[in-house]
Amino acid sequence: MCTVNMWFLRRRDALGVKEKVVLPMAKRWISGADLSAAMDDAKGANSRGMGVVVNFLGEEIMDPATADAQVEEYLRLQQALADGGVRGFASVKLTQLGMGADDEAMRRRFDRIMANAEKLSQLLWVDMEGSAFTEKTVAAYLDAHGRHPRLGVAIQAYARRSESDVNAILDQGGMVRLVKGAYREGPDFVFPTKPEINKNFEKLMASLFERGDGFAIATHDGALVERAKALAESSHAKFRFEFLKGIRDDLKGDLVKSGYVVSEYLPYGDRWWAYSKRRIREHPSNIWLILRSVL
Ligand SMILES: Cc1cc2nc3c(=O)[nH]c(=O)nc-3n(C[C@H](O)[C@H](O)[C@H](O)COP(=O)(O)OP(=O)(O)OC[C@H]3O[C@@H](n4cnc5c(N)ncnc54)[C@H](O)[C@@H]3O)c2cc1C
Repeated sequence: MCTVNMWFLRRRDALGVKEKVVLPMAKRWISGADLSAAMDDAKGANSRGMGVVVNFLGEEIMDPATADAQVEEYLRLQQALADGGVRGFASVKLTQLGMGADDEAMRRRFDRIMANAEKLSQLLWVDMEGSAFTEKTVAAYLDAHGRHPRLGVAIQAYARRSESDVNAILDQGGMVRLVKGAYREGPDFVFPTKPEINKNFEKLMASLFERGDGFAIATHDGALVERAKALAESSHAKFRFEFLKGIRDDLKGDLVKSGYVVSEYLPYGDRWWAYSKRRIREHPSNIWLILRSVL
């Protein structure tokens, strides 16, 4: 049996009922427990014509020693990408580096990962988290981008403030990964309906094609992917499509065949629960897949 399956089975024995039910399903979205599983997936994605964006799972880490350990793992991840000749980059969450607990220490940790990306000639992406961290994440990004230009940040189309964030980032020559947004938020912070979110996604995407470069269109929504393809026809901007592991593999393959640059986002690590909850919430039919896999 492959090592990834063995890992899931071992974890199942050690965990509670909730995890026993969800964990078998989570392997659809997550590479596995450790870096070697992520590297196997990354090489597989490269062989199918896709780049990768690799995330070591972790968020809202308050303990300094644990946050320091996250840095060491990112340095290992970046080195493994370089040593393995993998076409891809790392993507980090700032709360896993201690944002919210000690912001100065977070900046020092973030700087070490950025400096290593620079040394290895890699890009580095920053994930966007819940609304409690948006202001700080955008500020930390804008500050760091002045020193490390090969840095990009995710911006959520569901957030009302995102138009002004995109403008500030583009004014500074920064790079955006445009996503719809994955966190549960109130209507004061987000557009509450799907049509409003999609409309804002289109609006922000148009700005990126007009003024941006090196950006990523990160959605599984076929209509928005078609819209991006149409905008690309009258733009010279370099961009890529990005998708999550385990979702819309058909569309990824079609885009690669048509010659678009496509990357797959590969999370790995033990802290899989918060990420899996977001994937289930945005597509509740995954519950049925989970139940089918355990009944
Ligand atoms: C590369 C990448 C990086 C991301 N980074 C961030 C980030 O930093 N911060 C953040 O808040 N969000 C991030 N997201 C998640 C994003 O915000 C959305 O929650 C997620 O992509 C679902 O939205 P959608 O654009 O695919 O559209 P939706 O309207 O949710 O989905 C469109 C279609 O895609 C398929 N689909 C979507 N989700 C699923 C699923 N879970 N299971 C099965 N099918 C599905 C379905 O066919 C659905 O009809 C990222 C997404 C991607 C692709």
